[in-house]
Amino acid sequence: MYYFDPHIHMVSRTTDDYETLAKMGCVGMSEPAFWAGFDRGSAESFADYFRQLTQFEPTRAAQYRVQHYTWLCINAKEAEDVKLSREVLSLIPEFLDKPGVLGIGEIGLNKNTKNEATVFLDHLELAASLQQQILIHTPHLEDKFQGTKMILDMLCDDQRLDHHRVLVDHVEEHTIRDVLENGFWAGMTLYPVSKCTPARAADMVELYGPERLMVNSAGDWGPSKPTAVPDFILEMRRRGHPESLIRKIVYENPLEFFRQSKGFDFTPPEIVLPAEIKNES
Ligand SMILES: [Zn+2]
Repeated sequence: MYYFDPHIHMVSRTTDDYETLAKMGCVGMSEPAFWAGFDRGSAESFADYFRQLTQFEPTRAAQYRVQHYTWLCINAKEAEDVKLSREVLSLIPEFLDKPGVLGIGEIGLNKNTKNEATVFLDHLELAASLQQQILIHTPHLEDKFQGTKMILDMLCDDQRLDHHRVLVDHVEEHTIRDVLENGFWAGMTLYPVSKCTPARAADMVELYGPERLMVNSAGDWGPSKPTAVPDFILEMRRRGHPESLIRKIVYENPLEFFRQSKGFDFTPPEIVLPAEIKNES
C-alpha cells in the first residue's frame, strides 16, 4: 500500500532510511521545521536549516521516488528567546514561495511558558497575514493536556484562521476530542516510548472514525521509528479493517489536507509510474 508520512524529521535520518521507507510504500512525506538536536545560536543558522529543508532533503528523497515537502518556523523548544525568534520569523517569508513549502510549522508550546505563547502568536500572525496553512506541535507527557488547551484557545481566538487548514499533531486520548470537535485536523504520532502506539492509534480510529485523522512517525532525534506508519497499517489489517479505510488514513487524508496549500504539487505514483516505464522501454 502506498502511504504518505505527514510528519517526519528526515534531517535526523540516514539515506538508508529513505531507501527502507520507499521499499515499504512511502511515496511522500512532509517535514516540519523543528529542533536540530542542539540549540542554534543565530538566525543565520536557521536560514541554513531552511535551505537544508527546501533544497537538500527534497533532492535526497527524490533518489528513492519519495516526494518531500516541508514547513517552516522556529520551534517551541527554541522559542524561549523571543529576540532570536523574531529574527528567524523575519527570514521565513522569503522561503515560503520555494517549491515544496506547505506553510508554517511545527509551531506550538513545549513547556507552556509565556515566551513560547508570545512566539506562537507571532507565528499565527504571519500565517494569517500570508494565508498559510499551519502545523501544530503539542507538548509532551505532563504538559500535553494544559498545553493543548492553551493552543486551541489561541487558535480559536483568531477569527482569521480556517480550522480546516490547521493540523494539530501528537494528539492522544485526552486531547483528540477537543481538536476534532473544533474542526481541526488531528495527527497521531506513533512513538515507541511516549505519544501513541499503533494499537492506541487504531483504538482512536475505531472511536472517532477516519475523518480529519492522520498518523505519522515523527522519525526524529529521539527514540523513534521512521517505519511506524507501516506498523499501524499492519495493526489495522490484523483487526480486520478494510484496505479502503486504512488507505484513507495513511494516504488520502494527508493528500486532502496538503492540497489546500499552493506549495503542494504531489504527483500520485500511479500516474508517475506508467509514463516512466514507457520512457525507459
Ligand atoms: Zn516533529
